[in-house]
Amino acid sequence: MSRLRHRRFLLILLSVAVIGQWGCRRAEEKGTPSRQRTRYKVVLDPGHGGVDSGASLNGGQPEKVLVLDIALEVERLLKERRFSVILTRRSDQYVSLWKRAKIANDDHADLFVSIHANSCNDDRASGFEIYYAENGRESESLQAARFIQQCLKRATGAKDRGIRKHPYLVISQTKCPSLLVEVGYLSNPREAKLLSRRSYRRKVAEGIAKGIIAAVRKRG
Ligand SMILES: [Zn+2]
Repeated sequence: MSRLRHRRFLLILLSVAVIGQWGCRRAEEKGTPSRQRTRYKVVLDPGHGGVDSGASLNGGQPEKVLVLDIALEVERLLKERRFSVILTRRSDQYVSLWKRAKIANDDHADLFVSIHANSCNDDRASGFEIYYAENGRESESLQAARFIQQCLKRATGAKDRGIRKHPYLVISQTKCPSLLVEVGYLSNPREAKLLSRRSYRRKVAEGIAKGIIAAVRKRG
């Protein structure tokens, strides 16, 4: 990359970071919800459930339990701001991936956010990742992902592993802007311990909720 292109690239990176920080701070302001925000419908999708426990490592609670707790807290925070929120599951029940996408489509959601926790063979891997897919709404998905990325980073201090594209079924079969957030690695002992704490899960939920609020404000 030439020096000029490099400088331009750094400038773009910096402006994305500044916009994100501003968005998170704006999301903290209470204010009267606008008419648009009262109508904004978010479908939250706590991953796994029932016979499907998801990642289950380091003797802690399985992924399905941790992500449901986070999703319920995101719901509480969004409802405080008069968002309309639907969860694909509210208890330890199995819901197929197709059904999850169908819930968002049938309810004409404005945004779909699936919440997961990661694991891999390398126990040093840590941090959060945000995925979007080709579903015809990529640019809006990406915009929402950037706000959630900045707000999650600010709320948790966790390593930011970036925004990636992957055709996960739940986000590629939804018709609205859709994201899948991997909130951290249960295979990493330090991060598994953090995620086992309700106080940390609250921070994760706060980051996701503020990111959603900031994304909606950006839409105007
Ligand atoms: Zn998962």
